[in-house]
Amino acid sequence: MVKEIGKALYTTFKHIFKRPITVSYPEERLPLAPRFRGLHFLVIDEDGLERCVGCELCAIACPADAIYVEAAENTEKERHSPGERYARIYMIHMFRCIFCGYCEEACPEDAIFLGKDYELSTYTREEFIYDKKRLLLPFRDAVRQRPEVMNRLMEKAGL
Ligand code: SF4
Ligand code: SF4
Repeated sequence: MVKEIGKALYTTFKHIFKRPITVSYPEERLPLAPRFRGLHFLVIDEDGLERCVGCELCAIACPADAIYVEAAENTEKERHSPGERYARIYMIHMFRCIFCGYCEEACPEDAIFLGKDYELSTYTREEFIYDKKRLLLPFRDAVRQRPEVMNRLMEKAGL
């Protein structure tokens, strides 16, 4: 019995002067791994057009069936993307998403990316369905989240 108490006290005192490995979130945050995949964003180019052309390849590639895309035709009067079509509806169900990144890999337009934001919590289930309003991100902000990919895109676009 005394031996066990001694062992317990030894373990406690051994850790008393060690630096804690936890941080006081949200005031303090641990650095993310370089390849961390967080919340998605859809890129709006510098010319104001959405990169997404509503091809649905991301939805087909998604193993969790988390993406819903409904495409519509661009017209002369109303143009949303450089292609013939654009995503009239684009939704990601965050309850289903497993953050695998297959949607990003499948996209032929470099339109969807997984960013660095990981704060998902909210008060209603409905808010876990992200629509275009929540997903669209101007190019400059996208660069801040994924500089390595976005710089490549900027070079490609001659910016
Ligand atoms: S990260 Fe994976 S699971 Fe999530 S929407 Fe993209 S393909 Fe689907
Ligand atoms: S995000 Fe990419 S893959 Fe998905 S619908 Fe738009 S263009 Fe197609």
